[in-house]
Amino acid sequence: SMDVLSSQANLAGYRSVIDAAEQFGKAFPMMMTAAGRVNPAKVMVLGVGVAGLQAIATAKRLGAVVSATDIRIATKEQVESLGGKFIMVEDEESKEAETKGGYAKEMSEDYKKKQAKLISDTLANQDIVICTALIPGKKAPTLITEDMIDSMAPGSVVVDLAVESGGNCPLSKAGEIVNHNGVKILGYTNVPGRVAKDASTLYAKNIFNFLNLIVNKDSDDIILNWEDEIVSSVVLTHDGKLRLDQFN
Ligand code: NAD
Repeated sequence: SMDVLSSQANLAGYRSVIDAAEQFGKAFPMMMTAAGRVNPAKVMVLGVGVAGLQAIATAKRLGAVVSATDIRIATKEQVESLGGKFIMVEDEESKEAETKGGYAKEMSEDYKKKQAKLISDTLANQDIVICTALIPGKKAPTLITEDMIDSMAPGSVVVDLAVESGGNCPLSKAGEIVNHNGVKILGYTNVPGRVAKDASTLYAKNIFNFLNLIVNKDSDDIILNWEDEIVSSVVLTHDGKLRLDQFN
């Protein structure tokens, strides 16, 4: 309830699909009309954490055909439960791709090559790609190369939500829409701020819930319970000393 990253990443995932839809010159759902058939948009989501899952759900609600990939096998069931198609490189290394905390590890060069082939084979048929892959404390992994972008049809849209951490696509630029041979690459920064009212409301609730953890309701004093995992990992200094628990 006090996790800011989750509350904001969820909104970013939603907004990434809305931003893609705005830049995409075609409709998302399949439509059968007297004048002809409109094919559904094909959306691929790279990285299925909090933002990626919301991007899948939003694209499905709009009627797109959605596929997704991650290096954590745990995400397979989550993608499928949202009606998406899951693809990934499964090998010995991928069995160990998740940290104890549920986050991604950086993969070997060999794995990256296999993954690049899989993404490259899938990408050429996609209309929209939403990039959300992050590795805590490291630069975001490069998942889409210039060659791969060249294989996409003009009019396709790539949203690089990882742009502020170095980007999943080397062509994306923070704060800009890059037009590469007709493929638009969106590098919006502070994407939760593009859903400002909800972002502020959820952030305020996160802070409120956090204060509830450390402020005594009767005395209004701040009481730090060092046994609490959250308290011990967020306090930087106390009693004139550095607290380094969060780095251990
Ligand atoms: P994140 O923002 O660190 O990364 C986004 C996604 O990118 C992750 O799913 C990760 O596995 C994926 N990724 C990394 N490298 C990749 C690569 N080379 N190729 C493809 N995908 C790659 O992750 P997150 O959104 O914070 O979520 C991570 C996990 O933690 C999830 O299981 C989530 O449900 C869980 N979780 C986290 C929090 C939190 O503290 N922020 C709260 C609740 C749940």
